Amino acid sequence: MPASAPDSPSIVIIGTGFGGLGMAIKLKEAGYHHLTLLEKSDRIGGTWRDNTYPGAACDVQSHFYSYSFEPKHDWSRKFGLQREILGYMEHCVEKYGLKGHIRFNSEVARAEFDSSANVWHIGLSDETRLRADILITATGQLNQPAFPDIEGLDRFEGTLFHSARWNHDYNLEGKRVAVIGTGASAIQFVPEIARQVDRLYLFQRSAAWVLPKLDRPFSSLEHWLFRHLPAWDRLYRYLIYWKNESRALAFTRFNRLLDVFAWQARREARKHVSDPVKLRKIIPDYQIGCKRILISNDWYPAINRPNVDLITDGIERLVPDGITTTSGHHYPVDAIILATGFRATEFLAPMAITGRGGKTINEAWRDGAKAYKGIAVSGFPNFFMLYGPNTNLAHNSIVYMLESQFQYVMDCLKKLEKHPGTAMDVRAEAQDAFAEQVQQGLETSVWNAGCHSWYLDKNGRNSVNWPGFTFSYRLATRHAREEDYRFLSPGH
Ligand code: NAP
Repeated sequence: MPASAPDSPSIVIIGTGFGGLGMAIKLKEAGYHHLTLLEKSDRIGGTWRDNTYPGAACDVQSHFYSYSFEPKHDWSRKFGLQREILGYMEHCVEKYGLKGHIRFNSEVARAEFDSSANVWHIGLSDETRLRADILITATGQLNQPAFPDIEGLDRFEGTLFHSARWNHDYNLEGKRVAVIGTGASAIQFVPEIARQVDRLYLFQRSAAWVLPKLDRPFSSLEHWLFRHLPAWDRLYRYLIYWKNESRALAFTRFNRLLDVFAWQARREARKHVSDPVKLRKIIPDYQIGCKRILISNDWYPAINRPNVDLITDGIERLVPDGITTTSGHHYPVDAIILATGFRATEFLAPMAITGRGGKTINEAWRDGAKAYKGIAVSGFPNFFMLYGPNTNLAHNSIVYMLESQFQYVMDCLKKLEKHPGTAMDVRAEAQDAFAEQVQQGLETSVWNAGCHSWYLDKNGRNSVNWPGFTFSYRLATRHAREEDYRFLSPGH
């Protein structure tokens, strides 16, 4: 391993998902070897390690849900399965020699910036303390499962688990099972488990718009072409990019263009769901795109199964042997699976991050999370977030957004080298102007069409999505502008 330059900053990255690993690869390549990745678990992979439910797969095409600098030519199918994606990430760790940099079982509880020395003090939950010049968070938006606020959750005496923490020891065969939630996770595992269980009660609060998934295994000829013609592999990736990207305007400006997809979803539902009551319930009553559009080929056939009940009455409470609804029905079940999503708008929670002058990130974000370019937060010097506020997408791959962020952070480090010993803190004016521009861009987006979604925080502000093209984000993150930052000397 080449030695780091003597004045190379010490860098701590929190998380070993796609963000943390890719950032580490880029930093190592550029000669930053004084690098530690902190991982709360005993294995890398982030959301792809945690979500092991039956049928877990990606809804973005694998050739584009992978690093541009590390193509994989032998994806088994168009949309990779969880196992294969996790395997790809493990391959990256091996190939780029990251293992020695990762500290497993190291959950960060807090991080405090010390202005007198321009360093970050990082405290792990086991009270170990570390220090670093640069702190990069790569904790994703989907790492904290959301548990619904339903009365009696702790009174149920059967088996209960969240889809993101699947209980593989529990055999669902022949059981009466309730699933709460009909989002992206549920539509993947419900068709799988519906075949095993005796009875499945599916509690739906809002229906989802579901389109066909254009998925299939690659043929051996395609594998041969990908392996032997790298240009074809790259062209294939490029075509996926533009196919996905072409939908950006429909989400952000011309929402009615999405109506054609609503028509297609209704047609699919009619084709597969013969029960008229179920059919009526399964078609959403809100503008398509307002919540994430889902893709599946087996969701509607699963809903149509005679052993699947679609329940739209509100849940009143959980009781020791099942679920009671607001209409007074009682559903006795052996197991309850929560497919209720993640606390996406809480970003860095539950870590306590404290910046200059003792200001916490919660105080800085009292009116909602915001970050300059989704990466830097004013008052938190030498601190960079990957997949931060307003960098999520509904139309393309997050891995592409992450690569834009890697480039931006690398450029920040270069700028920092020009001001030795200082810590860079984004100017509040630059951050506010950027946040304003993002919120203006979101005004015409379909996510503001009035539905309740995980894109909106408790104040109804969209702090999650990027309101534009991914190439415009890439252009915006190509270089860090020195004038947007203050370079602070220790003790400033
Ligand atoms: P989600 O999309 O947030 O869905 C949560 C579901 O639970 C919704 O149907 C929601 O209903 C329901 N729910 C929440 N609280 C409830 C309550 N108290 N009572 C009844 N129902 C309740 O969560 P997810 O399915 O886990 O997916 C989250 C995100 O993860 C996705 O949007 C996607 O970005 C990502 N994901 C991606 C993939 C992939 O293929 N790449 C797969 C899975 C997940 P309402 O709609 O009424 O709130």
